[in-house]
Amino acid sequence: MITIALSKGRIFDDILPLLKSAGIEVLDDPEQSRKLILDTNQSDVRVLLVRATDVPTYVQYGGADMGVVGKDTLLESGNSFGSNAGVAGLYQPLDLQIAKCRISVAVRDGFDYAAAMKQGSRMTVATKYVAIARDFFASKGVHVDLIKLYGSMELAPLTGLADAIVDLVSTGNTLKANHLTEVERIMDISSHLVVNQTALKLKQAPIRKIIDAFAVAVKNRTENQD
Ligand code: AMP
Repeated sequence: MITIALSKGRIFDDILPLLKSAGIEVLDDPEQSRKLILDTNQSDVRVLLVRATDVPTYVQYGGADMGVVGKDTLLESGNSFGSNAGVAGLYQPLDLQIAKCRISVAVRDGFDYAAAMKQGSRMTVATKYVAIARDFFASKGVHVDLIKLYGSMELAPLTGLADAIVDLVSTGNTLKANHLTEVERIMDISSHLVVNQTALKLKQAPIRKIIDAFAVAVKNRTENQD
């Protein structure tokens, strides 16, 4: 049995064509069903629905053989990038180039970010991505006070809770609708394949087959986009 951990939403929708390229079709619709373990057209492949932030944990400890997770989540959960780096037991073989977005700094329209960034001044930044934000502002030599939030980050500058936020931006529509301006792009984000290293050894042929099919599909899609 091969168990794949996925989260609902963007990642789930974007991974379906890649799974199909590996001959795997999910039989249940997570938006219609309350099941957390989904069957596929292959009796020896199943999908677990977990929270995005739990995907690395499931894969690292072998609750799932492989999973798909955003680079934001991997970085924030302390996993560094590259196939040889990262948390023990977690192999990161492939950038799937799906659920693409960026992680950016945003402020209230009209807020003087440049002045606030001048060394010596102090800024309050609200974010779910405390580690990424801390590293980013430290690299700029700017001291910030970080406030950890779990959602609706956009509210923080509007209510005076913080001067700035660090959050994922895709179209920019959410920022615009809340009178916020993107002032700095910290990094581009996409979803990556993660694989349990022990599972890779014990179930090498079926896991390699999926990794290789994904790699070909990603390459073909990138070439067609160019
Ligand atoms: P947008 O309005 O298209 O810029 O999307 C921004 C909102 O969607 C923010 O609340 C983000 O946290 C969220 N978001 C954008 N891209 C992603 C992604 N790839 N994965 C998860 N959440 C995202």
